[in-house]
Amino acid sequence: MSGVGTGGGGTASKALFERAREVTPGGVNSPVRAFGAVGGTPPFMASAQGPYLTDADGNEYVDLICSWGPMILGHRHPAVVEAVTGALSLGTSFGAPSTGEVELAEEIVDRVDPVEQVRLVSSGTEATMSAIRLARGFTGRGKIVKFAGCYHGHVDALLASAGSGLATFALPDTPGVTGAQASDTIVLPYNDLAAVEKVFAELGDEIAAVITEAAPGNMGAVPPLPGFNAGLKDVTSRHGALFISDEVMTGFRASRSGWYGRDGVAPDLLTFGKVMGGGFPAAAFGGRADVMAHLAPAGPVYQAGTLSGNPVATAAGLATLRHSTPEVYERLDEVSTTLGREVSAALTKEGVAHRVQYSGTMFSVFFSEDEVTDFDGVRATESYRYPPFFHELLRRGVYLPPSPFEAWFVSAAHDDRAVGRVVEALPAAAAAAASAKP
Ligand SMILES: *Cc1c(COP(=O)(O)O)cnc(C)c1O
Repeated sequence: MSGVGTGGGGTASKALFERAREVTPGGVNSPVRAFGAVGGTPPFMASAQGPYLTDADGNEYVDLICSWGPMILGHRHPAVVEAVTGALSLGTSFGAPSTGEVELAEEIVDRVDPVEQVRLVSSGTEATMSAIRLARGFTGRGKIVKFAGCYHGHVDALLASAGSGLATFALPDTPGVTGAQASDTIVLPYNDLAAVEKVFAELGDEIAAVITEAAPGNMGAVPPLPGFNAGLKDVTSRHGALFISDEVMTGFRASRSGWYGRDGVAPDLLTFGKVMGGGFPAAAFGGRADVMAHLAPAGPVYQAGTLSGNPVATAAGLATLRHSTPEVYERLDEVSTTLGREVSAALTKEGVAHRVQYSGTMFSVFFSEDEVTDFDGVRATESYRYPPFFHELLRRGVYLPPSPFEAWFVSAAHDDRAVGRVVEALPAAAAAAASAKP
């Protein structure tokens, strides 16, 4: 059993899913991997190469998730494999400072101007959690502003009206987060600068920071309207609050310098993850040196991690960034533009109202007549068209996010053959979307 056309969880995947469900809640280790929103059971992956994933039954898929962002060079890029192998042979964790940490920090500081200093951590969740703590410690204020539909990891205070799995599974709030943990979080509609101005007019001297996805991908791709990020920078600086730009998804993907490289609005703090770990657990937060100076051991705000700056993870991240050349970013743009255009053409042919939206080189398809600019808009789309669209593509060997509320990711390894396989599968998927019933 192998090849394209039989995807969607064969007998081996189904058996693994049954075993997984016995020992793991819902059978998955991160909710976004579950198929709850599209039906069926997920294929279990056995290997990956370039733009392809291969499941436990030997089915091959064109990967349009790319591990939710990190695999910007494609799977098993030779330079990354070589860097990891080299690091492994020297030791897997030192519990003391090491060379790779300095090199990775220098690479980040070099790429992103507003980052004067950076602290390495192991996940995007840790990065945003620590940035929030630092902002509170630096300003001596308690309140945080976030936007509905933006996801910043599973930090207690940031789970209110979050995107990603919470959007997919319609979890408005999560049990386990106390009123006290959430009560300092103010949730506003995305792209609504007037709402931000209003809340600052009332509570400006209590707000430590505004945190936003630099260009959201976790409610699907809903980019900031022109001037939105600049407006956030302006209102926060007028009120002595910090502007935190969460670039965990867009960082080193939207451009060499992430979303900052596209809009040029300098945040006080930025968070990174995904691409900078090259497929390993590495993330970071950084920004203004005077703010970062408040972090232990330089300052009083505590933050730590046993595996922070792990030598294998930093080697993978560094190799990934060093090979993310201008040509890589050109290819990402080219592939995402081509796929967006082809998806649109297929849906138009079937008369399906839709919007292809881009947050840099990530994109997603909304079944909607109108442009989608916030989370209410996302929820008003005809998302019932997505499951049949998704399954027709999966059956034809194309692996999309199993949710209408997630972005699609491409890599520089997506060559014309991989793109062609997606294009071939689109007419059937578009027809399935057309005949979907609410
Ligand atoms: C993925 C993501 C996070 C969380 O990162 P993890 O490594 O999954 O903890 C935070 N913010 C954004 C914007 C993300 O996309």
